[in-house]
Amino acid sequence: MDFSLTPEQQALFASMLKLGQDVIAPGAADRDKSGVWDPAVWKATSAAGVAGLPIPAEYGGSGGSILDCCLVNEALAQGGKDGGFGLSLGAHWVIGSVPIWLHGTEEQRQRYLPGLTSGELIGAWASTEPEAGSDAGGILTTARRDGDDWVLNGTKIFITNGPLADVCTVLARAPEGPTAYIVEAKTNPGFKVGRELDKMGCRSSPTAEIHLDECRVPQSAVLGEVGSALWKIAFECFDWERTVMLAATVGGMRSTIDETIRYAKDRQQFGKPIAHFQAIAHKIAQMEINYQVVKNAVYKAAWLKQHDRPHVIEASTAKVLAGELSVQNALESIQIHGGYGYLRDFPAERALRDAKLTSIGGGTTEIQKMIISRTLLG
Ligand SMILES: Cc1cc2nc3c(=O)[nH]c(=O)nc-3n(C[C@H](O)[C@H](O)[C@H](O)COP(=O)(O)OP(=O)(O)OC[C@H]3O[C@@H](n4cnc5c(N)ncnc54)[C@H](O)[C@@H]3O)c2cc1C
Repeated sequence: MDFSLTPEQQALFASMLKLGQDVIAPGAADRDKSGVWDPAVWKATSAAGVAGLPIPAEYGGSGGSILDCCLVNEALAQGGKDGGFGLSLGAHWVIGSVPIWLHGTEEQRQRYLPGLTSGELIGAWASTEPEAGSDAGGILTTARRDGDDWVLNGTKIFITNGPLADVCTVLARAPEGPTAYIVEAKTNPGFKVGRELDKMGCRSSPTAEIHLDECRVPQSAVLGEVGSALWKIAFECFDWERTVMLAATVGGMRSTIDETIRYAKDRQQFGKPIAHFQAIAHKIAQMEINYQVVKNAVYKAAWLKQHDRPHVIEASTAKVLAGELSVQNALESIQIHGGYGYLRDFPAERALRDAKLTSIGGGTTEIQKMIISRTLLG
């Protein structure tokens, strides 16, 4: 296997790392504390072409491959140290824009993708409900026909970018089965943004409840076929989440290790840097081992996806490893920082709170193990 990156990919990674360091990192700690989204950061990263990376040039995007998207996600997370930015960007890309590109009519693509790729519009996806999380097929939101329109009613929860979204694809139960509807969120009076959720991590990304209250959309808002959106669209979204979005966790892990090494070399106890104690050095070695394992798993799954090869087990494996090992690394980073690691002044505790989401959002660790075991056992 060839693990090398092309010169263009190396340059892309380097420029996105710098963008993360220069534009995202400076206010990351403050945004985490106050739990706010900064539109200026979105504007600056969009101006650098980030918002439309996975979408083809004919719709205003950059036509990045799956691996390109992983590299950009990883680099921005590594340089930017802001799990919330990665979450919002990931949602905008893989569940907000990609379904419209892959399943939309030409009219839908032309209507939404240029705005989504320039970053002028923000995308979101709403399938999860208070009573239907892991069991995505258990949604209760209804879609009924009324003349030429559809009318949606129900409640969604945990919707990333919910308060920001201009375009939100909503999964609802039509008489024929689960169907996806593109809702123009800011102008549709039936799309009501409810409570904003106060999260433990990724706090710079807004997450909200959405109430669909007689939310009327035209027939032209149906994304894909009526009745088959769960298998054809939602499950594909989860697949992108388990490959492209996971690369942000890889970048976050790298940044945590680098910061921990810096601290361990700098902090003196018993007359020498704590990095000189084998107990600390071995913790750092284990953190690196965990990072290598996660990076290889994520990029292998992404490579398989890019080459259209089966990757169900690999993607779920990557998700389990990333979810568990990123948390282990963040905990070890806190331990190496001692009392200071327990304070909000250092990035270690933020890394822990941000990392925890990887084992929950887009399919929990338990669900990944269910997918792997079902695939193996038939
Ligand atoms: C910050 C954040 C952002 C999110 N963004 C979005 C978004 O943009 N759009 C969207 O639609 N959703 C989003 N989600 C929802 C996310 O995908 C769900 O939270 C996730 O799928 C789990 O569903 P749940 O929270 O209802 O947990 P539940 O499904 O209630 O699970 C609770 C526990 O039971 C376990 N469990 C459930 N079923 C089984 C089973 N069959 N076997 C074994 N264990 C099981 C789970 O693993 C978990 O440990 C987001 C969530 C978070 C926290």
